[in-house]
Amino acid sequence: MAIDFTLSPEQRELQRHARKVAGEVLGGVRETMAGLHTPEERFAATRPVYRELVRAGLLRKQIPPAFGGTMTTLLDLALVAEELWAVDADVPLSLFSTGLGLMPLLMFGSPEQQQRLLPPFVTDDGEPLAALAFSEPGGSANFQSAHPGTGIGTVARRDGDTWVISGEKQFIPHASGWDGQGADLFTVAARTDLDAPPQESLAVFLVRRPERGLTVLNSMETIGHRGALVSRVRFDEVRVPAADLLGRPGDGIGILEAAFSATAGLVGAFSVGIMRSAFESVLDFARTERRGGTVPVIEHQNVGTLLADMKARLEACRYLTWKACDYFDTTSGRGTELSLATKVFASETAVQVVYDGMRAVGAEAYTTARPLAGLLQDVLAYPLFDGGNVGVRRPQLQRLFAQDGYDPLAAAEERAPGE
Ligand SMILES: Cc1cc2nc3c(=O)[nH]c(=O)nc-3n(C[C@H](O)[C@H](O)[C@H](O)COP(=O)(O)OP(=O)(O)OC[C@H]3O[C@@H](n4cnc5c(N)ncnc54)[C@H](O)[C@@H]3O)c2cc1C
Repeated sequence: MAIDFTLSPEQRELQRHARKVAGEVLGGVRETMAGLHTPEERFAATRPVYRELVRAGLLRKQIPPAFGGTMTTLLDLALVAEELWAVDADVPLSLFSTGLGLMPLLMFGSPEQQQRLLPPFVTDDGEPLAALAFSEPGGSANFQSAHPGTGIGTVARRDGDTWVISGEKQFIPHASGWDGQGADLFTVAARTDLDAPPQESLAVFLVRRPERGLTVLNSMETIGHRGALVSRVRFDEVRVPAADLLGRPGDGIGILEAAFSATAGLVGAFSVGIMRSAFESVLDFARTERRGGTVPVIEHQNVGTLLADMKARLEACRYLTWKACDYFDTTSGRGTELSLATKVFASETAVQVVYDGMRAVGAEAYTTARPLAGLLQDVLAYPLFDGGNVGVRRPQLQRLFAQDGYDPLAAAEERAPGE
């Protein structure tokens, strides 16, 4: 049988649905935020848009049917992400950050924890927010470091039948919630003993919007994703029931790596969405503008070459993303190499593609009259976040390659590692 990149009728329908929702709901996000000066104001302005995405079933799409959602595969989610990101990156990032916040619970929660904590998110109504609180002000690339005094510094102390969590986190999506009182659910990475290595002490806690002890220290002024709030927060003796520890102390490394492996492939789809938007905007410019010359700009070979390279790279990243997500799906999350490779390759390619688009358009690309400068501000995040490519993602690939029995052809041949 020939290799087949044809989407199934269900996937096509999903893609059409996401494209329609994106067109109807996300088109005006930038205008909605125009003139709003603080991150909090801009985030608040996106609330009705977030609600519309939830209403369109796109939060439930991130939750598997076993829990009442509609997520079938990571590949399906990538199809949705590309369509959303091709129109706007701000509100979809808030929506997918909620998905990331739920990921540890979905992948590693006990049935009791899932039944108790998931229902608010299995909805087409409202604007529920979840957040993964992993990153810390002192850095997170070395979260696995076993040397005393390094790694995650947030601590969880056992006190009877509760855990008491204290520490600071940064880059935490919508940590304040919509009303300043906190997101509905945090999954918090913390050490149960700072003197023990993370292999024994790192844990992930499920923290429902705390009644006391959560302080939003400041919202960070990011250069892109201006409508997606990320904050620096302090957990100060926040108490959670003993039952809200995921797994056991020491399971944290595996839980976090698994959650971030799923998102790595999705960053490929975010990047493709942005590249699509850049390509279409430059194509429109080149076909319609003469810039004082005799022919449309597209007739000039240098611009045609830039467009050809942009399009080829975006197509390559799309199929790599599909392959990576499919490999992740078919190996039940054990095959992560292509997800990591996609995160690195597509995110860095997307930065170059947007910049090449700006070179084709010229000085106007540097103004807000065209979307490219805004796209560049957004896309610059992708090599840096979700585990920076330099500090986290390439080292993960390096560790894979160094493993005994590493098989360089396993991913290409759809075999899980070790099979
Ligand atoms: C828009 C946005 C959304 C985000 N969402 C979330 C979220 O939902 N939850 C969350 O917890 N975080 C989030 N983050 C943070 C993000 O995931 C970061 O990747 C994470 O904080 C790690 O930071 P870092 O990669 O800069 O590593 P740091 O530890 O700060 O390291 C910085 C740099 O030092 C170098 N370095 C350090 N150690 C090593 C090493 N061992 N090997 C090689 N190089 C090294 C690398 O050059 C690295 O890039 C978000 C960030 C942004 C911008």
